[in-house]
Amino acid sequence: MPTQLYIDGQWRDAANGATLQPINPSTREPLESVAAAGPADVDLAVAAARRAFASWRETTGAERARYLRGFAEQLEARREALIALQMRASGKPQLEAEIDIGDAIATFAYYAELAEGLDARQNAEVALPDAGFRSQTRFEPVGVAGLIVPWNFPLVTSAWKVAPALAAGCTVVLKPSEITPLIELVLGEVADAIGLPAGVLNLVPGLADAGSAITAHKGIDKLSFTGSNAVGRKVMQAASARTLPVGLELGGKSPILVFADTNLDDAVQWIIAGVYWNAGQMCSATSRLLVEESIADNLLARLKVAVEALRVGNPLAGETDMGPMTSEAQFRKVQDYFAVARDEGLTRLTGGEVGEGWCIQPTVYVDVPEDSRLWREEIFGPVLCVRRFADEADALRQANDCDFALAATVVSADLERAQRVAERLEAGHVWLNSPQVVFPQTSWGGGKASGIGRELGPWGLSAFLDIKHITAPR
Ligand code: NAD
Repeated sequence: MPTQLYIDGQWRDAANGATLQPINPSTREPLESVAAAGPADVDLAVAAARRAFASWRETTGAERARYLRGFAEQLEARREALIALQMRASGKPQLEAEIDIGDAIATFAYYAELAEGLDARQNAEVALPDAGFRSQTRFEPVGVAGLIVPWNFPLVTSAWKVAPALAAGCTVVLKPSEITPLIELVLGEVADAIGLPAGVLNLVPGLADAGSAITAHKGIDKLSFTGSNAVGRKVMQAASARTLPVGLELGGKSPILVFADTNLDDAVQWIIAGVYWNAGQMCSATSRLLVEESIADNLLARLKVAVEALRVGNPLAGETDMGPMTSEAQFRKVQDYFAVARDEGLTRLTGGEVGEGWCIQPTVYVDVPEDSRLWREEIFGPVLCVRRFADEADALRQANDCDFALAATVVSADLERAQRVAERLEAGHVWLNSPQVVFPQTSWGGGKASGIGRELGPWGLSAFLDIKHITAPR
């Protein structure tokens, strides 16, 4: 795997020779070190992207689709190596790593189709009420896109930004997270393999200074950020200084609502998948369980047994259901919340222990007060908080009383009710009786503090397109 920056079609060390030291979170052993971009490298990357934009913007959607399919094919050819790397560098169990890589490939393939579709929509005539005029709609790339991503779904989150940006005709400067900088570098290897023109895609893994160099750079035309609310606010401030368009995918504190009519074993599976997938390091983690009072004790008894049966540990050392926290900082943050829980006097049903590497036992707190910090704040770890509800209205009130509005799950055998509740939940994506499946065709993103805009689907492409109308007398 490459370990250098990828700028203007060249592999290079950082201008100041700095490196990042990623760690295998299961063993706490160092992985290959990676060049750490600083502001000087970001300058070079943005300049390369600007030069490349002049001709990349002139390509047809069909031409760009060929490159995007090339990304999908080349990632597919490296699938096994990428799965192994995702397990080693992020601590993901095999199944989770497989799904990540599959999602990234599917995203490139999907945006190849949408790039082709753009050609058919380009310059389409608008029906006007005045026969003396004609007008055409054009979709034009916004320009050079600065993309900044976190560490919890590396490669997937990047694919969700890079694929639509390239499909739209934008050129890209992507900053992977300093925690997981290795896997995104495969995109440079693929760019070389498919002959992507130099400068169309630039990769600058680095620390916060590389991120802020991107957000402040005059050569950037569009910002797309996924990460924490604290940094998201800084990105938005930087964007506002230049009135740049900005997409923000931030945090969540999503609810899962379980009604009394449901099959309890199914409910337990969806609760576990919703909060312990990726060891809870998911913006969409359904970390607030709302359960109908009449089944609460019964459901919690089964949940306890199932949670305690989860195999937690190093995914490379044997079968595991849940791996470690991906970083030491995250490992400590979750333990800080355990201390808050103790201070708040919360009742723990199970968990609260740490294991080998940066592993944390899946944890459940019950009857958590609504003003508890654990009920209201994003923990980003394997911690579930539970409350009971009396009826549908109470469930909705509790679910929507939240600063975030990213995702939700409804579990009920009454599909009419599930649909009704889904329509009233404040969330960008709601699953009914399902684990959290995400297709590139459906949108991703949320309201309130969860961010601005939507990724995936045609909305993901629109985020990188400007609309122009050309109007003239007939
Ligand atoms: P983070 O905000 O600390 O870092 C995200 C990225 O921003 C990293 O690449 C980091 O280097 C960079 N960065 C840091 N300071 C910067 C600055 N001043 N200017 C520009 N860039 C800067 O987030 P994280 O800890 O990597 O990720 C966890 C967070 O991401 C959680 O809050 C989670 O909810 C959120 N997240 C959201 C989604 C979503 O789709 N809504 C998806 C995944 C993760």
